[in-house]
Amino acid sequence: MKRKILISGGAGFIGSAVIRRIINNSSDYVLNLDKLTYAGNLESLSSICNSRRYKFIEGDICDKKLLRRIFSEFKPTIVMHLAAESHVDRSIDGPEDFINSNIHGTFRMLEAARNYWTTLNTNSQNIFCFHHISTDEVYGSLENNTDFFTETTSYNPSSPYSASKASSDHLVRSWGRTYGLPILVTNCSNNYGPYQFPEKLIPLIIINALEGKPLPIYGDGSQIRDWLYVDDHAEALYKVVTEGKVGETYNIGGHNEKTNFEVVKTICNILDRLCPPLNISDNSYFDLIEFVIDRPGHDKRYAIDASKIQRELKWMPHETFESGMEKTVKWYLDNKIWFSNILDGTYQRNRIGLLTQKTSQKGE
Ligand code: NAD
Repeated sequence: MKRKILISGGAGFIGSAVIRRIINNSSDYVLNLDKLTYAGNLESLSSICNSRRYKFIEGDICDKKLLRRIFSEFKPTIVMHLAAESHVDRSIDGPEDFINSNIHGTFRMLEAARNYWTTLNTNSQNIFCFHHISTDEVYGSLENNTDFFTETTSYNPSSPYSASKASSDHLVRSWGRTYGLPILVTNCSNNYGPYQFPEKLIPLIIINALEGKPLPIYGDGSQIRDWLYVDDHAEALYKVVTEGKVGETYNIGGHNEKTNFEVVKTICNILDRLCPPLNISDNSYFDLIEFVIDRPGHDKRYAIDASKIQRELKWMPHETFESGMEKTVKWYLDNKIWFSNILDGTYQRNRIGLLTQKTSQKGE
């Protein structure tokens, strides 16, 4: 079956992985709607951009008229809604864009989908689905090491980012309950892998290390995240949208809980082996680690119980943390041109540095 999939935010890190996967592994058609904010990068789609099954439109999900036109002309059978402001630190510096894109933008996407869906015949209505891609950050922080987020955990967001995503999740579910719009929601743990914008922890550490710059870690580095390789996430999203039960929520996790410090140490170990440092006196990237003042409201631990998607859709991630990190570091070593093009532009790697005050060296 050839599906017509409208993907918002497809020039971002996860959206581009989803599009590459769909174009390479199915006969579906994709329309990518993306505003190309600082985080959007069409170079991440260069391998598939000439496919006749792929089309890109630059535009804002808050633009009501544009959405109406896209729905009526493209006639999607599936919507995968990924467009969002996604960086917690930026949401602390300036929450407004997060309220606009994540809440108002999701409202606009839902209304455009609903208006279009009501014009369809019953068969087409039954096939249609609006898939909202969200985060485990909506559940807040786990304080002890034995709890996990399930699909029924209460929402308790901590940052403007997670609060805006929580709001959008509620909107999506209410459009399902109130208007009968066929919806699906997924809440996912931290992603990593190729093509991630250099301000997020893993690419930031790899790129800074390669340039002999400090490797900043918030607080004491003890915050725990469950890391998921982005191509595993893309596979899970496609499985949910094609095989999931309408109205349901699925948590997606990597089964890889690691402290931030462990993540940085793993990167240093891989780099020490693959690309030994030239300019550091004792020959380890580990010596570049610097602990910086913690992010306000920094959640202690996120951990996903992903048993529902495993049980119902038979999905499990393929990559272990070790195999995924090895692939990721190699990808950044082989694709310096991709991130140099970003670094040549306006972005400077100073997000974590904004709050920086060196508190100690290494300090395992
Ligand atoms: P990203 O920041 O890399 O990409 C977001 C994309 O959305 C960019 O291409 C940007 O240009 C686009 N965009 C932003 N505002 C827009 C607007 N108003 N109109 C149109 N396009 C707009 O984000 P990502 O890491 O790829 O995350 C994608 C989705 O997955 C987000 O909804 C995020 O909340 C969710 N998510 C991310 C992670 C993660 O670890 N990265 C984990 C769980 C969930």
